[in-house]
Amino acid sequence: MKKILVIHTGGTIAMSEDEETGAVKPGEKNPLHITVQSLANFAYITEEDFLNLPSPHMTPDHMFKLMIRITKRIDTEHFDGVVVTHGTDTLEETAYLLDLLLPTEVPVIVTGAMRSSNELGSDGPHNLITAVKVAAHDEANGKGVLVVFNDEIHTAKNVTKTHTSNVSTFQSPQYGPIGIVTKRGVFFHHVPKSRDRYTIKQLSKKVILLKAYAGMDKELLQAVNQLNIDGLVIEALGQGNLPPAVVPDLKKLLDKKISIVLVSRSFNGIVQDTYGYEGGGKQLKDMGIIFSNGLNGQKARLKLMVTLEQTNEQAKLQELFLK
Ligand code: ASP
Repeated sequence: MKKILVIHTGGTIAMSEDEETGAVKPGEKNPLHITVQSLANFAYITEEDFLNLPSPHMTPDHMFKLMIRITKRIDTEHFDGVVVTHGTDTLEETAYLLDLLLPTEVPVIVTGAMRSSNELGSDGPHNLITAVKVAAHDEANGKGVLVVFNDEIHTAKNVTKTHTSNVSTFQSPQYGPIGIVTKRGVFFHHVPKSRDRYTIKQLSKKVILLKAYAGMDKELLQAVNQLNIDGLVIEALGQGNLPPAVVPDLKKLLDKKISIVLVSRSFNGIVQDTYGYEGGGKQLKDMGIIFSNGLNGQKARLKLMVTLEQTNEQAKLQELFLK
C-alpha cells in the first residue's frame, strides 16, 4: 500500500451543521479524523491538522506556507501522495498556487465538500476517499496538482467552482475533467500538455483584481491609482476590451511600471487584441497591457503575484502569461 499524507485546512468538509440554528461552522473536533480511520484499507495514512479555516479566510500567505509544509514533509518522509482538504470557496486558488510552486512530481490532490459532516447526503467522506484513491494511483504522478471532487479529476489550472451549492460544483469549462473515479478504480482519459512552474522565495507583491462592466466608473481606476500596488488584473469584456473611460488611468498605472494583466469575464475562450476602437484590445495591448491565456481572474492574480517575484518586464511577463 502507498503512503499518503492527508493535510487538513478546514472548510465545510471539516464543519457540522447546528441542528437548532442550521448554521454550518467549525467545531472543537475535526469530523474528518473519523473518516480518515476508514481509509486504512486504501493506504497508509498520516494525518496533519495544518489549519482549520473557512476558505474565505485563506490568504496567499497561508497557501505559500502550505506549499512549504507539503514540500518539507514529502522530502523528509517520502510520501507517495498528498491529499489537502479545503473549503470550496477558494479551493481553486490554493490548488493553482500549489500547482505553480510545488517542486514535486508526487500527486497532490485537493478536495472538499459542499455539505457538512452531519448533513444528509454529506459528500465529504466520499470525496476524501476518492481523493486518497487518486493520490495513491501510479498514473497521478507528474500531472500537477489535481482537484478530485464528485468522482471527477480536474487540473488545478482549469477547474473552477461553478455552483453555489450543488455537489457537482467543480468543473473545467472548455476542457472538462482529465479523469473519473468509479467503484472499480481511477481512470485518466486526458493528460495535461505541460506544467507551468516557478521557484520563488516569498510572495511579497500586492496584486488586486477588478471586474469590468458596462459604463465602468473611471473613479474606480482613479482610486486604484492611489493604492500602493505592484499589479492589477482586470476581468475584461469579451475578447479583451474595456470601457474607454478607464483607459487614461490605466495609462497612468503603466507609466508607474505597475503590471496590468487582462483576462476575460467570459469563462470560455482567451483574450486577444482584436478590436481597434477606443478601449479595444488592440489599443490595450499597444499600451503595454499583458494578455492572459484563458486563466480566470483569481488565478491570473496569483500567477501575477508569483511571476512578479521574478520580473516586472512587460515582454517577459507577456511570454509567461502565454504558457
Ligand atoms: N464557505 C465554505 C468554505 O469555503 C464552503 C465550503 O467549504 O464548501 O470554507
